[in-house]
Amino acid sequence: MVFYKPLYPLPSTAHIMTSAEKKAVETVAGLMALSARTAPKGKGQDALVTRVLVGDEVKALSRGMDALGKEKEIRFFLRDARNVGASDACLLLGMRREPTAGLDCGACGFSTCAGMLMEDPGKNRTLFAGPNCAVRMADLGIALGSAVKTASLHNVDNRVMYSAGVTALSLGLLEECTVGYGIPLKASGKNIFFDRKDP
Ligand code: SF4
Repeated sequence: MVFYKPLYPLPSTAHIMTSAEKKAVETVAGLMALSARTAPKGKGQDALVTRVLVGDEVKALSRGMDALGKEKEIRFFLRDARNVGASDACLLLGMRREPTAGLDCGACGFSTCAGMLMEDPGKNRTLFAGPNCAVRMADLGIALGSAVKTASLHNVDNRVMYSAGVTALSLGLLEECTVGYGIPLKASGKNIFFDRKDP
């Protein structure tokens, strides 16, 4: 059998494809942030923070998740940390506590927005800081849904992770936010976010 031998050998095709795909994943992460930004917000007020992590930043988040999981003895953080460490990019979405929607609606458990804001969000030392405006939490959920819709349209595997979000908050990656989530992204032949095994 005769094999084609190129006169001017190019770098490995596999390498070229991998670089192109990684770049495409980073572009999609930016498009996801855009989708989250333009998603509808209560009363048209925007308290959403977005951040795209790539390269070493993704690895640092993964290490932080592993460390936080061990410190808090939360086993699934270690599994998620491995996923994030193997990802090409990670989108962070966080919500600031203010401005509230200003409706005095009671959904947060307080009869007024001012009453909710009087509570110290750090007093319980929980992984998310609260209380928070329920309308803003709905905004965050809608933004997350819009972001993963965009990932899905571009066929990029992803998973919304609480563990990545609280770690990002603890590392100060989501400035002024009290609640946040991470969405790691990966382009590979097998979706790494399913059939996961505990480390
Ligand atoms: S959920 Fe709470 S903070 Fe938000 S608008 Fe209603 S009363 Fe105000």
